[in-house]
Amino acid sequence: MAEQSLSVFKTTSYQEKPFDHELSFGRTFTDHMFLMDYSEESGWHDARITPYQPLQIDPAAMVFHYAQSVFEGLKAYRSPEGDPLLFRPKQNLARLNQSNDRLCIPQVDEDFLLEALKQLIHIEQDWIPHTEGMSLYIRPTIISTQSFLGVAPSTNYKLIIILSPVGAYYKEGINPVKIAVENEYVRAVRGGTGEAKTGGNYAASLKAQETAGKDGYAQVLWLDGVEKRYIEEVGSMNVFFKIGNEVVTPRLNGSILNGITRDSAMQLLRHWGYDVVERDITIDELYDHYQQGDVKEAFGSGTAAAISPIGQLDWGENKMVFNNGETGYLARNLYDTLMGIQYGQQYDPFNWVV
Ligand code: PMP
Repeated sequence: MAEQSLSVFKTTSYQEKPFDHELSFGRTFTDHMFLMDYSEESGWHDARITPYQPLQIDPAAMVFHYAQSVFEGLKAYRSPEGDPLLFRPKQNLARLNQSNDRLCIPQVDEDFLLEALKQLIHIEQDWIPHTEGMSLYIRPTIISTQSFLGVAPSTNYKLIIILSPVGAYYKEGINPVKIAVENEYVRAVRGGTGEAKTGGNYAASLKAQETAGKDGYAQVLWLDGVEKRYIEEVGSMNVFFKIGNEVVTPRLNGSILNGITRDSAMQLLRHWGYDVVERDITIDELYDHYQQGDVKEAFGSGTAAAISPIGQLDWGENKMVFNNGETGYLARNLYDTLMGIQYGQQYDPFNWVV
C-alpha cells in the first residue's frame, strides 16, 4: 500500500454544542469528518479531515443499487483526567477489513486509519460528553461510488468517518429487557453476509424488529437461517447464557458477527475463573435447561449498551424469566468492569484502552 498523508481542512463555522442531557443516539454530528477515496489507478488516496458536509454522489453510484458497503461502530470515552480514550480500535479496523473482504471492497491500511482516527478525535475532543455513561460514537463506513448499473464489484469507493455524541444507553441505570424469539424471519444464513458488518444485514432485520416492537419487545432473538433452531444473536448484540456453572455463547459459525464486546466479555469471564463455552445451542435446549431451573442469567453484549441483561425471553407461548427479571450478577459485574475500563476509571489488565 502506498504511503499516505493526511490533509486537514478546518471549518470556519463551529456549531453550538448541545447540552449532554439533550443527547440521544445518532442524531447529532460533530464539526468535522474524515474522507478518503479509492480508485483502481491510485488505490486509497486523498485522506482528509474536512468540515462535516453533505456528499455529492451520482445517482448511478453502485451503493444505491446493490448495497456494496460496510461499516463499523466504536466509541471514544472521556477519562477522569479529560483525555479521549478508544476501546480496542484495532479490533474494529481488523473487522472492517474482514467485512471488506466479504463485500469485495479493497483492504484499507489499518495502521494509517487508526492514526487518522486519532487525529480526528483529537480535533473533535471537545465533543466527547463529560457526563458519566456518555460517549462519542464513531461511525466509519465505506460505500461503492462507481456510476455503473452492472452487478460487479465497484472500481471506486469512499471511506467516511463521522462522529456523533451519544447519551447514556441506560438513563436510569442498567435495566433488563424483554425479548421475543423470532420464528418467522431470519437475519443471516451461513455462507451469507451475517459475519460482515454490511448495511443489508440491518435492512433485513427491520421487519422482525418492527413487529416485535409493536408487541412490546425491545429486540428479537435471532435463530439460524436454515433450521431456525440454533440461537445466533439478540438484536444487534451477541448473546450469553449462564447455564449451571458454565457461561455459554453461540460459536462463531459464519452467520454471527464477531463482536468485540463479546470477545472482551469472554476474556473477562475467563480471567475471573468462569468456564466460557462457545458452542451451538438450540432454543429447545435452552428451554429444557430453563425448565430444569438451570438458566441463571441471560444477557446481550455490544458497543451500544456494553451489556444488556435479558429479563424475559418469550418463545411463542413459552415464557422464560431469568433471575426474576432482574439484572444478574455476571451482567452487573461485566457491565461495571467494561465501563470502568472504557472510561479509564479502573485497571485495564488487557491493555484494551488506547
Ligand atoms: N451483532 C451485530 C449484528 C451487531 O451489529 C453488533 C454491533 N456491532 C454486535 C453483534 C456487537 O458487536 P460489538 O461488540 O463489536 O459492538
